[in-house]
Amino acid sequence: MEMVCLRPDVWVLRGGVNLGVILAEGEAVFVDAGLDEGSARRLWRWAEEQGLRPRAAILTHAHADHFGGAHVWEARGLPLFAPAFEAAMMQHPLLEPIFLFSGASPPPELLGKFTLARPLSAVSHLEPGAQAFGPVSLACMPLPGHSPAQVGVAVGNILFCADAIFTPDVLRKHPIPFCYDLGQALASAQAVEEYEVLVPGHGAPLEGPAAKEAAQAYRAHLLRLVEEAENALGSPLTAEELLRVLAHNLGLPNLNLVGFLLARTTVFAVLAFLVREGRAEPLLEGGFLRWRRR
Ligand SMILES: [Zn+2]
Repeated sequence: MEMVCLRPDVWVLRGGVNLGVILAEGEAVFVDAGLDEGSARRLWRWAEEQGLRPRAAILTHAHADHFGGAHVWEARGLPLFAPAFEAAMMQHPLLEPIFLFSGASPPPELLGKFTLARPLSAVSHLEPGAQAFGPVSLACMPLPGHSPAQVGVAVGNILFCADAIFTPDVLRKHPIPFCYDLGQALASAQAVEEYEVLVPGHGAPLEGPAAKEAAQAYRAHLLRLVEEAENALGSPLTAEELLRVLAHNLGLPNLNLVGFLLARTTVFAVLAFLVREGRAEPLLEGGFLRWRRR
């Protein structure tokens, strides 16, 4: 993990998940906390070494890899902020493995730290638009799609865009990226293009043409998922059969239970997108829920 300076007042702690810092007049606002205590502690220590006072943290969305370390900051009295819907999940993180397991009580494999973070007791609600945290000014930009109410954090022409885009490097490893609403994900991946510098949740910060190209490539990747699904649904398939086809076509390696259920959620996001567009429909027959092209 290393600290990268984007501008004297904007820094990134690079790691499995990127954490941001925005500074003004000796105070610091953090963006995301990482999966566990390690990155959260490290960022706090860095701020102290620089003589900065942590003022607040913005948590972009309620996935364990982005807010799992935030309990460390909460214990130190740092005010935490997130969009209302995401904040509810951070206070009740069992919701994540519950919905991954179709609403039923999840088995132990889903209760590890990647899908079940420690609960936060108080998360203040964050509204979209310009915000000031003491001397630190920034803007919160709704970027739904990867999760229901994800936000990005903008400072000037820099946008911490969380998981609104996945870079080609990440997509090579995870060709079926987690998605809640595919239409919203497409719109959010387009909206980030107006920024000169993008700091994605995973991977290196991107600047200028590279930022725009990554956002466009991500949208193309999502549209490829839609197209592959629509083609496959020429003969009716269950969601899990469709996942098998997409995994084969996109070169997805064997999955463990968590990886399978995450990818299956994305398949449902693709199916819902096709249904809303009038391009596919559910077909309940012989005790199976299948989906077919219209
Ligand atoms: Zn995420």
